Amino acid sequence: MPVSSSDARRADSRDRPPGPVPPRTRLWLDFVNTDAAAQMPGGDLLRDFEAVLVWLQEQGAVDDERAAGIRRRAVLQPAAAAATLVDARRVRAALRALAEKGFLAERVRDDAVVEINRVLGRSAGTRRLDPHADGGYARAFVPTGDAFAGLMIPIVESAADSLVGAELVRVRRCADPRCHRVFIDGTKNGLRRWCDMGTCGNRAKAARHRARAEPQ
Ligand SMILES: [Zn+2]
Repeated sequence: MPVSSSDARRADSRDRPPGPVPPRTRLWLDFVNTDAAAQMPGGDLLRDFEAVLVWLQEQGAVDDERAAGIRRRAVLQPAAAAATLVDARRVRAALRALAEKGFLAERVRDDAVVEINRVLGRSAGTRRLDPHADGGYARAFVPTGDAFAGLMIPIVESAADSLVGAELVRVRRCADPRCHRVFIDGTKNGLRRWCDMGTCGNRAKAARHRARAEPQ
C-alpha cells in the first residue's frame, strides 16, 4: 500500500529528536517579577540577602557549592551582604524600567545599559561551561575577587542578551493594571497581553462576560 505524503510527514516528525524547549521567559524578567510579589501577602521576594541567594539558587544562577561559600562569607561580612541586597534591588529597579519602557524610551535604555555595564565592569572572574546532571549545559561565571559582586552577573547578562537580540519589542507589562508582572511575548502574532492566561487573562475574560451580561 502506498504511503500517503501526510503519513510520511507524521513519521518524519515522530522520528525527529525533540529539539530544545525554547525558553518561555528570561532570567532578568523573572528577577524583575520578584518585586511584583509586593501586591501579595509575603511581599517582595528579595526581603533579605539570604532570599536573594536562595532565589539565585532556585534559578540555577548560583550552584549549591558556591552558595554555601557565599553564605559563610555573609556571616563574616554582614555589611557586605546587606550592601549586596541594596545593589540587587537597584539592578532590579533599572531592569524593571527597561522591561516596561525600554522599547519606547531611549533614555531608559541608556540608563539600563549604564547599570548593566556597571555590574559587568566591576567583577573579575572566569567564565566556564558547566555540564548539568540532566545532560544540558549552562554558562557560569566564577568571580575571583569579591564573591558578592558577581551575583548579579547572570541577571544582567540575560538582560544584555535581550538587548543584543532586539527582544525589547516583545517585553511588556501585564495588561491588568493591578498586576505588576512583566513577560516576554513569545506568540507568533505578538499580541499577548497578560502575564498568564490562567490568572490575569482569565480575570479579564470573566470581566468582559460580566460587562456583556449587565443590562444596558
Ligand atoms: Zn498579570
